[in-house]
Amino acid sequence: MDPTSWPVLIAIAIGVFFVMEWVAWAAHKYIMHGFGWGWHKSHHEEHDELFEKNDLYAVVFSILAISLFVIAAFGHPIVGAIAVGITLYGLFYFIVHDGLVHQRWPFRHIPHKGYAKRLVQAHRLHHAVEGKDGCVSFGFLYAPPVDKLSAELRSRGTVGEEKAARKAKTADAHPL
Ligand SMILES: [Zn+2]
Ligand SMILES: [Zn+2]
Repeated sequence: MDPTSWPVLIAIAIGVFFVMEWVAWAAHKYIMHGFGWGWHKSHHEEHDELFEKNDLYAVVFSILAISLFVIAAFGHPIVGAIAVGITLYGLFYFIVHDGLVHQRWPFRHIPHKGYAKRLVQAHRLHHAVEGKDGCVSFGFLYAPPVDKLSAELRSRGTVGEEKAARKAKTADAHPL
């Protein structure tokens, strides 16, 4: 089969789409919550601004996809299929993460049932921990069952510790 025929190119794009979930999971867990925390931190803090430093990650991925499209335009259809897969993932990521979870669009829609609800709840649990360490659920399009994530969070005890630390801080600020 000709590797540049349409069915093969479509299969490559779909494959890349799913591989990207793994890439995003690993980047989120090991880069963004690792040495890249400097940019990602902004996403784990409350703020009123429209943009966060964390959006730079989306910019980096966009530049990567655009570069691949440019290469594809010079007669490399397989590279083009990879670029399409990455772009589709970016689109779904934007809809699920920035849209459904963080409501960064001008209309309100919160899924109340099905898999979309599970995705939203799982990512909310990712944000349940304040700091860089001890977080759960690093994926975006696949989420483990919410009960499992809650149990994992409880067993780590990070949320409880943070709450206790906050309480201690406010007690310091307002001595009775
Ligand atoms: Zn995170
Ligand atoms: Zn988030």
